[in-house]
Amino acid sequence: MTDQFTFSNPVTLYHQGGFEPQPQDGPGLASQQSPKPDHGESTYRGTGRLTGRKALVTGADSGIGRAAAIAFAREGADVVLTYLPAEESDAREVAALVEEAGRKAVLAPGDLTDEQFARSLVATTVRELGGIDLVANVAGKQQHVEDIADLTSAQFDETMRTNVHSLFWIVQEAVPHLPPGSTIVNTASIQGYQPSPNLVDYATTKAAIITISQALAQQLAPKGIRVNVVAPGPVWTPLQVAGGQPDDAMPEFGTSTPLGRAGQPAELAPAYVFLASPESSYVVGEVLNVNGGMPTP
Ligand code: NAD
Ligand code: MG
Repeated sequence: MTDQFTFSNPVTLYHQGGFEPQPQDGPGLASQQSPKPDHGESTYRGTGRLTGRKALVTGADSGIGRAAAIAFAREGADVVLTYLPAEESDAREVAALVEEAGRKAVLAPGDLTDEQFARSLVATTVRELGGIDLVANVAGKQQHVEDIADLTSAQFDETMRTNVHSLFWIVQEAVPHLPPGSTIVNTASIQGYQPSPNLVDYATTKAAIITISQALAQQLAPKGIRVNVVAPGPVWTPLQVAGGQPDDAMPEFGTSTPLGRAGQPAELAPAYVFLASPESSYVVGEVLNVNGGMPTP
């Protein structure tokens, strides 16, 4: 398999076409997906860009968060991994990969909709890693609902709390601990600008994540803390099969992008590394779209 430095055709680099419907109960497991997603396990090559960094990664068990956690570790960072307790088996695979990279992995399961737990993650990171200088907010909830009549207040609230409130709680708690040079990378979506009719609550949170990040980026830049955003397009992760899309959308998933295929989590990792590392020192409040070619504002 080629790594991220090997000259290759992006059209044919990964699985082409859609996917078999394969519903999982939420939050879903990467280990149950077929075909197996690529999180960079056998391909991501670090170049020391995050040497000695202390990272908190939410949603680090699977999908894009797993790819970011693996890449951060191979770039030299120690990592606190958060995820829901039901995802313990996925998280343990990631922790093993972080440790194989010679870095410390700390497992921190819990529910980000619980304010106390979300806030406590910063203290956990400071205690376990001796500080914190990198926050990657990757966790997210996406459940499609075709008709506004069926979108419950409970779901609306949970999507908001998972995707937006937890980011606010973690960043507010982290700022007093973040030394100049620290970086925060948040996760939006193409849905932040091109909302699907069946993702009313989710798309709203993704627009909010862009806006909160742009506001915070300006506020924190004078402190030497940079805030940026990665906005993925369709990516092959458990989020999509565990209620993120209707089952009958899976055969088409990702095929309408200009590259004609879904992205793999491994293709997102370099964006997180770039925005987390000092090589992006003059990039502040930016949204890096990694979406297979869909135009964005
Ligand atoms: P994923 O399911 O692998 O990751 C999402 C993670 O969020 C889960 O692993 C889970 O650990 C975490 N999470 C959800 N609810 C939680 C809660 N209440 N408490 C603690 N953790 C919770 O899927 P993914 O696609 O890798 O998602 C990662 C991010 O990428 C999300 O923010 C998602 O919105 C975003 N994104 C994904 C796509 C895509 O097509 N997959 C597209 C655009 C944006
Ligand atoms: Mg998961």
